[in-house]
Amino acid sequence: MKTVVLKFGGTSVGSIDRIKKVAKIILSHKKKGKSIIVASSAMSGITNDLISKSKLISDNFDKAEYDTLLATGEQMACALLAARLRHLGYLSRSWMSWQIPILTDGHYTNSRISKIGKGKLIKYLKSGGIPIITGFQGINNRERISTLGRGGTDASAIMLAKFFKAEECIIYTDVEGVYTTDPRLFSKAKKIKKIYYDEMLEMASLGSKVMQPTSVQDAKLNNIDIKVKSSFVNKKGTLITNQKKIFSNQIITGISSTKNDSKITIIGVKDKPGVAASIFRPLSQNLINVDMVVQNISLNGKETDLTFTIKSDDLKKTKKLIKNNKDISFRKISYDNDVSKVSIIGVGMITTPGITYRMFQALAKKKINIMVISTSEIKISVLISNKHTKKAIATLHKEFKMG
Ligand code: ADP
Ligand code: ASP
Ligand code: MG
Repeated sequence: MKTVVLKFGGTSVGSIDRIKKVAKIILSHKKKGKSIIVASSAMSGITNDLISKSKLISDNFDKAEYDTLLATGEQMACALLAARLRHLGYLSRSWMSWQIPILTDGHYTNSRISKIGKGKLIKYLKSGGIPIITGFQGINNRERISTLGRGGTDASAIMLAKFFKAEECIIYTDVEGVYTTDPRLFSKAKKIKKIYYDEMLEMASLGSKVMQPTSVQDAKLNNIDIKVKSSFVNKKGTLITNQKKIFSNQIITGISSTKNDSKITIIGVKDKPGVAASIFRPLSQNLINVDMVVQNISLNGKETDLTFTIKSDDLKKTKKLIKNNKDISFRKISYDNDVSKVSIIGVGMITTPGITYRMFQALAKKKINIMVISTSEIKISVLISNKHTKKAIATLHKEFKMG
């Protein structure tokens, strides 16, 4: 039988009323005679609340317990949803990831699904059941619950689609699809009909949280088409797919922005081979993700200033690691936790010259100062002050005629 994977995000199951509506969406697919697999997120706000609780217990909360704690949100949503379907007379039950099992690799808080056991679910689907599976989690080789990173139910859905060779994978969310930029930050953002994996991956990695980056990578690796659509209104959404299925002459497809970034500058670092590695080694050992990096050589050539960005949550720890780092000597350290990275993304820039200039010029005209720049084949990112984010997005949207 043809299988369809449906994923519902936090807002989609954010209240009892919403859960009742989602049950109806699930049944609309079931009535087409398909086998339905559902992956659900926790009700909106629950995961954040669990994180706040963990912080009150310890600022060094045990990682395995942290994942066990965070995973409970999905359990609640799945039981409510399965019970609603049963109330409506359908065979359904919740499945915890360890019951299936969904196996994971990697670190706590940031694992990836390596395998999904199919036997029990296939039997259940054949009996007409609708499995409601806890997203965002699996069990590792120590049989402990491990989570897939924030927004990880997207990855659960994609991997379920992969292992069950689903004909369709639909990500139901609280917006109508993927837009040219976050519609909550810029009301003139346009819904995108089709987007390449590579562009979506860049957008997601650069802050467009409509899709979790890992999930897009998994979809690309396994060539799984993703449909993103709203669980609030029944409208056509966005298809995320491979390049062959798209024709577009748009140069820039999307604009992403981040919040909660911090910039650190280490001034007057004694320059010698390996100094950058010495600075970043302890950060990497502590799983702190360094994003943009610039290094300037001082006039005398003996010292260097190094600027880089990290997530603001890591700022306290990073400052401590740098101050305690015996392998480097420097004059001063300064930081700014009020910065935002704004990026333009589009495969069109590979073949169109002058995009960087147009971006910088447009921002300059609006008196927006650029602090750090980084580029790849299909994206240009600039670090600016947080207070200019919305203005920068509006300016770039207009400059690249994305409306
Ligand atoms: P879910 O709980 O369904 O997983 P998320 O909150 O993770 O939903 O993602 C949906 C949100 O992503 C939207 O509410 C929107 O504010 C934000 N978003 C950011 N960038 C974009 C974009 N380019 N297109 C659509 N939504 C975006
Ligand atoms: N509940 C988790 C989170 O808030 C996973 C998800 O929503 O996909 O990050
Ligand atoms: Mg999400």
